[in-house]
Amino acid sequence: MMPIFDLPPDRLTEDLVERTMYARDLAPVPEIMTRSFFQTLPDAIVRPANATQVADVIRQAASLQLPVTPRAAGSTSYYNAVPVRGGLVLDVNSLRYDISLDTARQTVRVLPGTTWFELDDTLRRQGAAVRSYPSSAIAATVGGWVSTQGHGIGSLQYGAIADQLVSLQVVLPTGELRELTRNSDPPLSWFVAAEGTLGVITTVELGVRPRPAAESHHLFSFDDLDALGTGVQSLSHSQPRPYTVFFADAGYLALLERAGFHAPGARRQEAGGPPPASRLLSPASYPAGMLMVSFQGEPAAVNQGRDGLARLPGRELPSELALEEWSLRLYHLRNKRGGPSLLATDIWLPLRNLAAYLAGVRKLAVRSRQQIGSYGLAITPEWGQVMSIYPTDERRTAAYLAAIGFTKRLHDLGAHYGGRPYGVGLWNTPYLSRLFSRTDLRELRRRKALLDPHGIMNPGKLYAAPFPLWPVTFAPAATALSLAHTTFLRGERRSP
Ligand SMILES: Cc1cc2nc3c(=O)[nH]c(=O)nc-3n(C[C@H](O)[C@H](O)[C@H](O)COP(=O)(O)OP(=O)(O)OC[C@H]3O[C@@H](n4cnc5c(N)ncnc54)[C@H](O)[C@@H]3O)c2cc1C
Repeated sequence: MMPIFDLPPDRLTEDLVERTMYARDLAPVPEIMTRSFFQTLPDAIVRPANATQVADVIRQAASLQLPVTPRAAGSTSYYNAVPVRGGLVLDVNSLRYDISLDTARQTVRVLPGTTWFELDDTLRRQGAAVRSYPSSAIAATVGGWVSTQGHGIGSLQYGAIADQLVSLQVVLPTGELRELTRNSDPPLSWFVAAEGTLGVITTVELGVRPRPAAESHHLFSFDDLDALGTGVQSLSHSQPRPYTVFFADAGYLALLERAGFHAPGARRQEAGGPPPASRLLSPASYPAGMLMVSFQGEPAAVNQGRDGLARLPGRELPSELALEEWSLRLYHLRNKRGGPSLLATDIWLPLRNLAAYLAGVRKLAVRSRQQIGSYGLAITPEWGQVMSIYPTDERRTAAYLAAIGFTKRLHDLGAHYGGRPYGVGLWNTPYLSRLFSRTDLRELRRRKALLDPHGIMNPGKLYAAPFPLWPVTFAPAATALSLAHTTFLRGERRSP
C-alpha cells in the first residue's frame, strides 16, 4: 500500500490493470527478461495536474526515498520510461497545452505533455511553426523529446532540440521548482537527453520559425548504395540546407510491400493483389535505395534548393509519389502492419559510412536469412540516424528471445562503421562505452550525484548497466541468442 500522497484522489492509482499498462513500452519484451531481474510493475501511478503538484509528489517521494519514473507518451522503446525498481510512475500527460507564442521573439512556452503535432498545428494557425520534430510527432511530447536525443525532421536545417531551447522549468529531485536557462546553475543543457534521471520538466520555452512560405518535396531512387550514400552526403552539406533528407534501402521497401503498402520505385506488378511472396524476400525487386529531400522556407531559397537537385546521382520519381512520401513521414513504422512484431536498432552513424553500413546489413540479412530494412534521416551534415528493423513473432517466446539477441549484431555492425546507439534507457546500457567517453560519463555521474544524491529519479538507467546487462554477462548471452536466432530462421526456411 502506498503512503498517502497529498494529491486529489483521481490523481493517484494503485489499480493493477493500470499499473500493468505502465510496466512496458513500445517494445514487447518477454517477462523472463524483465520480471526476473527488474521490478517493472510500478507501485502506483501519479498524474499531477500542474507543476506545484509535481513538486509536492517529488518532495514526498524524496523524503521516502521512493523511485520516481517520469513518463509521457511512452514512445521510446528501451524502457526509458518504464521503472526497473518499482516506485511511482509520474505520468506528465495532464501537463498539456498552455501554448503561448511570442511572435516578436519567435519563441513559444508550452507544457511538456503537449505532443509535437499539437504544438505545430496550433503554431501554424498563428503564422509560426516548430523548427523540428521527431517522426513520432503524433504521440511524442515536447518534454519527452527534450529528455531524449532530440534529433529528427528539420534538424538538418535547424539543429537539435538542444539548440532551440530558451528556458526550462523543472522540478529537481528535492522537489524544488526551478527556472533554468543556458547560464543558470545548473544550466538547462544538463536536462537535455537526461531521460528523466535529473528531475521533471514542467514547462519548455523554445525558438520557433515563421510558417514556411514555400516547400517542395522530391523523391529519388538509386541503383546502388554507393550512389545513395553520395546523394545523402552531398545534400546534407548543400546550400540552401534541405529541411530534411530521408533515406531507405531495398529491405525497407520490401517490408513496406510485405505490410501491404506501395513501395516507391518498386517495379509495378499487375494491378491489384499483393506482390508474390518470392518478391517480398528478394530486395533485388526494388531499387537499392530511395531518398526523399524537402526544402522549406522563402520561395527563392526553396527554388534554389530544387534547382541544385539536377546534380544528384539518382532517378527522380514523379512528384505525386514525393508528395505521398512526405505525407507519410510520420508513419514509417507502418510496416509493422505486416506483423506480428518488429524489432529494431536505432543508431547514430557517420554519413560517410552510410553506404558501407547498409551494404553490411544487406550481407548480414542474406547470411542469416533474416528480412531487414533500414531507413533514417540525415540529422546533421555529418551524422545520420539509422533504424534497422526486422520482423519477428513475440508469441513464440524462445524464437523471439533469440531475435532480440540479433540486435547486438546490428549494433556491432554500426559500431564497426563508427556508429553508436541512439538513446540509452535500460536496454542500451551495455553499450555505454560506445555512447560516452570516460570523461563524459564521469561528468554525467557527477551531475547525477549532485542533483539526486539518493538516486530516486528513474533509477537503473543511463549511468551504469544493471545486472544482467553488464557487458561481461550481456555480450556472450546476446551472441549465443543471435546464433540461436540464425538457426531458428534456417530451420524455418527449410520447413515446407
Ligand atoms: C515511429 C517512431 C518514430 C520515432 N522518431 C523519432 C525521431 O525522429 N527522433 C527521435 O529522437 N526519436 C524518435 N522516436 C523515439 C521517441 O518517440 C522520442 O524519443 C520521443 O521524443 C519520446 O517522447 P515521449 O513523449 O514518448 O517520451 P517517453 O517515451 O514517455 O519518455 C522518454 C524519456 O523521457 C523522460 N521524460 C518524459 N517526459 C519527461 C518530462 N516532462 N520530464 C522529465 N523527463 C521526462 C522519461 O522518463 C523517459 O526517460 C521515434 C519513435 C517511434 C515509435
